[in-house]
Amino acid sequence: MLRIDNLKAYYPLAQRLFAPKRFVRAVDGVSLRLGERETLGLVGESGCGKTTLGRAILGLAPVTEGSIHFQGQDLSGRNGNALHQLRRKIQMIFQDPYSSLDPLMTIEQILGEPLDIHRLYSSREERLEKIHSLMESVGLDSSQARRYPHEFSGGQRQRVGIARALALSPRLIICDEPVSALDVSIQAQIINLLVDIQQREKISYLFISHDLALVQHTCHRVAVMYLGRIVEEGLVEEVRSQPLHPYTQALWNAVPTLEKERLSEALPLAGEVPSPLNPPPGCHFHPRCPHATEECRRSYPSRREISATHSVACHLHTSSK
Ligand code: SF4
Repeated sequence: MLRIDNLKAYYPLAQRLFAPKRFVRAVDGVSLRLGERETLGLVGESGCGKTTLGRAILGLAPVTEGSIHFQGQDLSGRNGNALHQLRRKIQMIFQDPYSSLDPLMTIEQILGEPLDIHRLYSSREERLEKIHSLMESVGLDSSQARRYPHEFSGGQRQRVGIARALALSPRLIICDEPVSALDVSIQAQIINLLVDIQQREKISYLFISHDLALVQHTCHRVAVMYLGRIVEEGLVEEVRSQPLHPYTQALWNAVPTLEKERLSEALPLAGEVPSPLNPPPGCHFHPRCPHATEECRRSYPSRREISATHSVACHLHTSSK
């Protein structure tokens, strides 16, 4: 479904006279695979490049190097109508249901807009039918189609955002922290809705989140991202029962769990994510890692396959050790 190879997304900074060109390396050599009807969790702290990666897939962030293939077709090698048609199959659900909907548009207008752009109806009646059916498919009352976003609760607004993402019958939805702005009591309802939709529509999700606990209950596989790179990837069960990278261990340690004792040797995460403008040399995690050695400060570890589905980039797990 989705294949990303060595993707780099750099933002150039304004250049001073005679100064060397500088870049914010938001995504720095990411390779990922996502299968049909699969949910891949992309986790990490804020500032790790997760959202930029999602935006690059949608063509909303620069692709400096590397490639993105969707259903076997190279997104970077296409333009015009071909790209327009391909991108139609990839949609996004945004983090904030309060700001992602135009407050001056009714729900009917919001859901009708993508149908209008892609001319997906042959009569006004069919258009309205589609809008009502989209609302009902996410558990909204279609008799409220003429209402404005402010007349709905946060959870209902996120349902509108999901209905809008579904309007073009996508094959892949990028969910960017889809429940983090919602009350805890509403979060489970939205997650359950996304799971139901996946089973019904056979959609794949790239599920971006800072919350490993949420990813554990939602995703099939997980990729842990730190400062623009994937540091560990595997089936959720593997990464949960045997987290290998010290960053993954620290993230798990922050999750309230009965199994906390198991990871008691993992230290809590100290400090903040360094700037992607000037990443630390060697392993980018070394300034925060309790196991850092001279080698870690000198060289970036290559990714090692631990099993057919589990890989990690850490000198503690290189083949020579
Ligand atoms: Fe820590 Fe070294 Fe592994 Fe980086 S490579 S996570 S610094 S042990």
